[in-house]
Amino acid sequence: SQKNKALFIIFGGTGDLAQRKLYPALYRLYKKEYLSEHFAVIGTARREWSDEYYQDVVRDAIQDIADSDDHAKAFASHFRYQSHNVKDTEHYHTLKRLADSLDEEYQLEGNRIFYLSMSPSFFGTITSHLKEQKLVTDNGFNRVVIEKPFGTDYESSKELNDEINASFDEDQLYRIDHYLGKEMVQTILALRFANRLFTDSWNASSIDNIQITLSEDLGVEERGEYYDKTGALKDMVQNHVMQVVALLTMNPPKSFTMEDVRDQKIHILKALKEPDMSDVSSPEFIRGQYAESEDGSLIAYREEDKVDTESMTDTFVAGKLTINTDEWRDVPVYIRTGKRLKEKMSRVDVVWKKTDNELFDESPTHLTIHLGPKEGVELFLNDKKIGPGMDLTPLPLRSLRSEETIEQSPEAYEKLILDVLIGDETHFAHWGEVAESWKFVDAIKKAWKESDQPIPLYPANSMGPKEAFDLLEKDGRKWVWNP
Ligand code: NAD
Repeated sequence: SQKNKALFIIFGGTGDLAQRKLYPALYRLYKKEYLSEHFAVIGTARREWSDEYYQDVVRDAIQDIADSDDHAKAFASHFRYQSHNVKDTEHYHTLKRLADSLDEEYQLEGNRIFYLSMSPSFFGTITSHLKEQKLVTDNGFNRVVIEKPFGTDYESSKELNDEINASFDEDQLYRIDHYLGKEMVQTILALRFANRLFTDSWNASSIDNIQITLSEDLGVEERGEYYDKTGALKDMVQNHVMQVVALLTMNPPKSFTMEDVRDQKIHILKALKEPDMSDVSSPEFIRGQYAESEDGSLIAYREEDKVDTESMTDTFVAGKLTINTDEWRDVPVYIRTGKRLKEKMSRVDVVWKKTDNELFDESPTHLTIHLGPKEGVELFLNDKKIGPGMDLTPLPLRSLRSEETIEQSPEAYEKLILDVLIGDETHFAHWGEVAESWKFVDAIKKAWKESDQPIPLYPANSMGPKEAFDLLEKDGRKWVWNP
């Protein structure tokens, strides 16, 4: 609405994320009038760009979604560019003058959103300068948005957090985990807590196991340098997978406020049992790396650009999580994520136990929540087969969102930036969650390192190494989704 007033200062305004996600998201908010007259954007980065050139870049970034050239132009006219080296104190004075003048020109009432779309190694430097050189206002709100990776282990994330906290409080910080901005991820809480069918049976006495798959079909593409230092465990499990685990198993929050939701998620993450890695040949968390595809059309990870030819980096992880609470102790949560898998798919499968009566030899009821790119819900029940006798036939109840609906739903960045604008922190990763999930991930990383085992390989375009299947077979189970 007209009420949203803010100056966005985007550090890394020439970067990939800014062009691919942030400018389109801001434009969509403009189109829906969440942003109108009273907003301005300063893009900063090292390069020397003119305002005109920057506005052209912004228009290019939104050309596929723009209503018209004129509308795109009107939007882009709110953008200014300021070349800036984040380490140079003088540059913050220049930035402050520009910020103050835009504040006046667009009547922004001192509201500022500092979006750090840059390497986290700069976060501390930027935030301390913002405070010291007084880019932080005292008449409006000042919010800092940061991108992953938030540290590379618990220690470094704590350091990073302390650095930022020296200038900004936790309630001014918005740590983006774009999974939390996905409509279908947010739907998990509605499905779980607004349906008596589930509130009464979403527990250890009814559920047999939960499975989470975040699979990608792409390899590392151009991100070899970053990825080879990171791997799937840190890139996907520490953040996105852990958040989905927490949403699937947390107790109902008292309300959908940040505090209540956060407390319930932290309760779960704190209760995660350290995985048993003592059996080095079949630990509870296994890793994998893609090799050449069977037909030879896709190259091995180690052949990728900017990847070490002897790399031990995990491009795949599968694991068994145990949540050590009375509610969940006996319900394993199996997770897997990786690159160069058969299909791009994020989904949750919840598998109920069989009934206690022995009338049928039924397949267990299960619920699939498709998080993306397919979106929707499928519930698989048992029905009676038409005809004599009492034979069973599967009854899938399927509600998949149409392409049109998906197209029209707000995209994760759009939703999250709007949340920043209105000051709703519910769908962001809070320090307590980040800290607990790093501790969990660090323990796995350490065990892998100490085990001194070669990394299992899997052919590109498969569903991961054999170990990922053994993990469930050992428990007498299998992956529900097995393309
Ligand atoms: P990028 O390399 O494309 O952009 C980095 C930006 O930082 C550029 O604008 C560059 O000019 C600027 N920069 C670098 N050093 C600078 C300095 N000393 N002073 C001033 N400006 C400087 O990176 P990106 O892909 O846009 O990613 C930005 C951040 O978002 C990173 O932390 C990345 O990990 C994170 N992220 C990116 C994506 C994505 O899809 N691209 C997804 C999730 C998280």
